[in-house]
Amino acid sequence: MKKEIASLIELDRQRTLLAHIDALLGWDQETYLPKSAVDERAEQIALIQGLVHEKAVEPRVGQLLSALEKHPDLEPLEKAYLRVIRREYDKETKLPPDFVMELARQTSLAQAAWADARRTNDFALFAPHLEKVIELNKRLANYINPHGRPYDVLLDLYEEGSTEAGIAAIFAQMKADTLKILSKIQSRPQVDDSFLHRPVSADRQARISLYLMDAVGFEKDKGRLDTVAHPFTTTLGKSDIRITTRYIEDFLASSMFSTIHESGHALYEMGIDPDPEYSGTRLAEPVSMAIHESQSRLWENMIGRSKAFWERHYAKIQEMAGTLDDVDLDSFVLAINKVEPSLIRTEADEVTYGLHIILRFELESSIMADKLAVKDIPEAWNAKTKELFGLDVPNNSSGCLQDIHWSMGSFGYFPSYALGNLYAAQFWHQMHKDIPDLEAQLTAGKTSVPLAWLRKNVHCHGSFYKPDELVKKATGEGLSPRYFAEYLDNKYAAVYGY
Ligand code: ZN
Repeated sequence: MKKEIASLIELDRQRTLLAHIDALLGWDQETYLPKSAVDERAEQIALIQGLVHEKAVEPRVGQLLSALEKHPDLEPLEKAYLRVIRREYDKETKLPPDFVMELARQTSLAQAAWADARRTNDFALFAPHLEKVIELNKRLANYINPHGRPYDVLLDLYEEGSTEAGIAAIFAQMKADTLKILSKIQSRPQVDDSFLHRPVSADRQARISLYLMDAVGFEKDKGRLDTVAHPFTTTLGKSDIRITTRYIEDFLASSMFSTIHESGHALYEMGIDPDPEYSGTRLAEPVSMAIHESQSRLWENMIGRSKAFWERHYAKIQEMAGTLDDVDLDSFVLAINKVEPSLIRTEADEVTYGLHIILRFELESSIMADKLAVKDIPEAWNAKTKELFGLDVPNNSSGCLQDIHWSMGSFGYFPSYALGNLYAAQFWHQMHKDIPDLEAQLTAGKTSVPLAWLRKNVHCHGSFYKPDELVKKATGEGLSPRYFAEYLDNKYAAVYGY
């Protein structure tokens, strides 16, 4: 290894250590922090994020980059590493340190305000914070690229190379496919899932969650499970991946599938290993939010809602839940795949899920183009819900206050969720080609087989390939919405018998 690369890695590792300390503060805020400590925590987070930023923009990083980029013979790993560091360095050096700390402080406060507003169903509590966060996001976009359209600049932060026009075109196809499949489903009798709403205590649900983590291959000596209002996964170190879930007493499926979902995120993080020499660097980080989401959705829906998976595990869940003794496997599998337009994104079935993302994408686009003011968001949200789902929103907690992302300052993040579904279906399609007896393996409880495929084709690479390169390498072509549409149509033709 060239000695300049070694120096760059040393600086990068210090940045990663600080970033993980920041993640620990954030994890603690969402799980255990006493309410009165919120303001103090915002200061702590602002200070640490300021230090992370300082590390990322050290002049030495710029000097090393410039020297190395002129080097005549760079190894592929070195080239990829320089590309990743360059992208990050160019972005971070455009941001004034005061701005970075201000963004950290305001979003930490906004998250606490959002949680209160959601709990008490009071949009007015959150509105002033949201105003600030939006203003800061517009400034962020302007710092990074004053000539770009703000929403394009923000989208690119989450999915390198993506633009509003590009995503809009993919979403138009996804929407047409979804509505076609939905109308076929709605022409058939609805499946019965009433038994999933029989009360199951949080204790029992917690035991089920721990069981499911084992079932998908979550290494418990490298992570843990806790409960929160809005489930997420966070990485505190190479061997410390925290997942979270929530227990709704009269909806067992919610915690089961959010636990499998977050485990899918964790499995990705646990499997990143582009090269031991780059451990603890940004090359050993996930390549994009959409690829991340493809992993959680693949485990949650393609594996976790398949009959093959439950052949192996259903009897155990029946025993642990204590409420499903009179429900046979087929009825259970139908119930966990019930499709019905609904208000809450995180509880949505996989057919209508994309419509929730289109709703947020269209609103974010208007907000960033100054066409939608904060005070008008609830009304715009409700109108779009009516248009896309045919549903009335009874209160803002079930509407525009349901998601944490805007309070975190994450404008441009939502499209990753839908793109994740599309990537997942494309990986799933290829996985079936490469492993013809995949279903039989799952029936035998061998989730290690799909995990090994994902490790080899997706996880291990970290950020070595860009997202579009990664999908091409794994499946032979660029991202195509057609695999997701085919997957849904095949699956739901069987579930609903159309
Ligand atoms: Zn996710």
